[in-house]
Amino acid sequence: MQKCYCKSGLNFSECCEPILRVLEVAPTALALMRSRYAAYCLGDVNYLQATTHDHTWTDDELKFIQDWADNSVWQHLDVLDSAEEMVEFKAYYIFNGEQHLHHEKSTFLKVNDMWKYVDGEIFEDKVNLLRNSACICGSGQKYKRCCAPKLKSKP
Ligand SMILES: [Zn+2]
Ligand SMILES: [Zn+2]
Repeated sequence: MQKCYCKSGLNFSECCEPILRVLEVAPTALALMRSRYAAYCLGDVNYLQATTHDHTWTDDELKFIQDWADNSVWQHLDVLDSAEEMVEFKAYYIFNGEQHLHHEKSTFLKVNDMWKYVDGEIFEDKVNLLRNSACICGSGQKYKRCCAPKLKSKP
């Protein structure tokens, strides 16, 4: 059984897959947010576009987001807080050989019974992953033996 990309601990088939395949609607803003993180992991830019409120991406924007999704190692999602129309989360990923942390408080809106991503406030957090601690990706290995070797310069 494939565990869900959104790191909920549930199986993919019982978590984000039915939402991504548009077999089920996301019941909450949080469920939509989790499915959008899974879409980044899968490089499903069409889903990301379809679940963004009131915005059509240009070809350049689409290319940029596809490149970001495809060339990142998506390591972990931490949901810090959520309310009816808000989710605050931290997403950890490696892009261009650098460790990144994306901390965002996103706003969502329900339009015709479908949750959509509106926009978000982005916090500039420093990433602080310790070489000897368990890796953020949940592999059970130490960071220095798991994700750190994928970095250009060692932390
Ligand atoms: Zn999921
Ligand atoms: Zn790792």
